[in-house]
Amino acid sequence: MQSMSSGQISDDITIAAISTPPGVGGVGIVRMSGSLSFSILEKIFLPKNSSCSYQSHKLYYGQLVDPFSGKMVDEVLAVFMRGPNSYTREDVVELHCHGSYLVLENTLKLVLDCGAQLAAPGEFTKRAFLNGRIDLTQAEAVVDILSAKTQKGVDLGLEQLSGALYRRIEPCRQSLVRAKAVVEVAIDFPDDDVEIVDHSQLVVQLTEEVQKPLQKLLKGAGQGKLYRDGVSLVIAGRPNVGKSSLLNALLQEDRALVTSVPGTTRDSIEEIIDISGIPVRIIDTAGIREGVCEVEELGIERARELINRADFVVFLIDGATGVTEEDRLLYEQVAHKPLVPVVNKSDLCGDNELDLSWMATEVAPVVISARNQDNIEGLRNTLFAQITSAAGVWEEDGCAPNLRHKLALGAAIDAVQGVLDTLGAGLTCDLVAVDLQGALDALNDIVGETTPDDVLDAVFEQFCLGK
Ligand code: GDP
Repeated sequence: MQSMSSGQISDDITIAAISTPPGVGGVGIVRMSGSLSFSILEKIFLPKNSSCSYQSHKLYYGQLVDPFSGKMVDEVLAVFMRGPNSYTREDVVELHCHGSYLVLENTLKLVLDCGAQLAAPGEFTKRAFLNGRIDLTQAEAVVDILSAKTQKGVDLGLEQLSGALYRRIEPCRQSLVRAKAVVEVAIDFPDDDVEIVDHSQLVVQLTEEVQKPLQKLLKGAGQGKLYRDGVSLVIAGRPNVGKSSLLNALLQEDRALVTSVPGTTRDSIEEIIDISGIPVRIIDTAGIREGVCEVEELGIERARELINRADFVVFLIDGATGVTEEDRLLYEQVAHKPLVPVVNKSDLCGDNELDLSWMATEVAPVVISARNQDNIEGLRNTLFAQITSAAGVWEEDGCAPNLRHKLALGAAIDAVQGVLDTLGAGLTCDLVAVDLQGALDALNDIVGETTPDDVLDAVFEQFCLGK
């Protein structure tokens, strides 16, 4: 077997992990990264064509054999990716095994016995970052893609992985660097301060090239949170108004990529639906009623708790029976939440409009038939409008900063404001330089250039094993 020269760019320990999720599947993958990857492959893999010479990025068919016992571990496809043309920029080997957890465990044990070490969660991606293949926003995009619940979430993750956020931040960073260079010259030659630094020009530059673009990005953080974390919504209403039917109607149309989250109690179920890209965790509660037996009381208590924790409430009324005293009592319990009133069973009540003026909500009631799937689209549109207006400005610009970016963007904007105030007050360049550096530090933190280790750890801890 011909040995390949290593493209290793760091002499890190070789790491290994099972990269596919637990459970049974057609194929499962054990991945290695590091300088020993190829030699471990040579030790444990018997290619069908024993005279084959390995080429990078080509799949080879053969058997995995334990070199210590001579026992066959699995029949696999093996691929070697020579660094730096690999996910981590190091030498990477992937073993495509049968997707049995036992086989994968045995394979992992084999590569560990041969000198690899078990990878920590996210360690492959961390190496890609540390070896300069991706910036920190791109590493975070990998988490976003893995955990996205809607297609929109995947799309935004892919945008960020392709460097969308980096491309928005980089020009601001460059502008700050230029401004800092000018100011530092003035500090070095204090007598010439006035001539060297054109204060008004600097103000225009920092406002137009840094502050405004960063403020625009910051506005996108609200929608980033919505697309990532989504919102929770409770369907509330007395028994038999059609809560379960509405949940089913919404699920039939808009079931999200993640199809279901097990309910926490028998009294409520939770599913995720996709409302124009926003994952909405929708909770169907047991009806809240007063004066019922003890067992039901528990469910009712739970429903109250869920309503209190939910971001939004769909308050369902039965259009066929009309408003009852029970509806009004129930409404009092949910009126403090952002609420969309919905009249169900339009197929039975026709055009008879219910008087819902007693409700203190500005949102016009949406009339639907859950059973016939009538106007579910209208309800979705109303929900989208409510959810996005609660999140603030909505700009579809392909960038969705997360909380970490949001805090750093805020810090950068504050620092730039400090510069503008100092320039406005005609104060010295020393103060300007400090704030310029503060703004630069904040932006550097976003892309990972100067990010403290604990922040890096927090980012990579979000990953699953094997990624
Ligand atoms: P829940 O107790 O609030 O969850 O109500 P369900 O969804 O179980 O519905 C109670 C009853 O109303 C069932 O018999 C449903 O088939 C019926 N129902 C629900 N939605 C509609 C509707 O839009 N039109 C009609 N005619 N019946 C409906």
